Amino acid sequence: MTEPKKKIIKRIIIDVDKCNGCRGCEVICSAFHSAPRYSSNNPARSRIRVIREPLSDIYVPVYAGEYTAAECAGRDKYKIDGKEYEECAFCRASCPSRDIFKEPDSGLPLKCDMCESDPTLKEPMCVQWCLAEALVYEEREEEVTEEDHEVVEELDAGLVALANKHGWSKVRDAIERNSKKS
Ligand code: SF4
Ligand code: SF4
Repeated sequence: MTEPKKKIIKRIIIDVDKCNGCRGCEVICSAFHSAPRYSSNNPARSRIRVIREPLSDIYVPVYAGEYTAAECAGRDKYKIDGKEYEECAFCRASCPSRDIFKEPDSGLPLKCDMCESDPTLKEPMCVQWCLAEALVYEEREEEVTEEDHEVVEELDAGLVALANKHGWSKVRDAIERNSKKS
């Protein structure tokens, strides 16, 4: 039996009641990920977007999650504390039915990477810039088996190598075709 290893789980807790819709998180995320770093800022390139409906006092910060090729056939409507949220308000997907979480020039999906490209950061940039404290960063340790760990690392390395050779869109299309077959 393989010895379990420790893995750090990172998460950001979102308090929608504290968010005031200032969009500082969008600005700093896009600036942090621009090349060279901090050379420009454009919320359309941000990996966090704030769903805003000021007249209804609705502000929902949403982190970019996975890419999905197909939009949902059915939609959910949320009513919380008397507020009615739009159908896609809480969805993290980069999806064909809306423009957010897509790189504006290439159309490639954007995904939150927890700002891991700078290992010196104590907290992700959006958390640091949220003066309203609507975003709170947390880390915890979890045990994973050596095998799980190796599979994920091999998969990541393989995908990056393929993308460097063929481009992310071709890799994405190939994965999509194969997932339909299986
Ligand atoms: S920086 Fe904080 S308060 Fe401002 S929009 Fe983002 S989550 Fe909301
Ligand atoms: S954690 Fe980093 S990559 Fe993710 S949304 Fe915040 S600033 Fe962007």
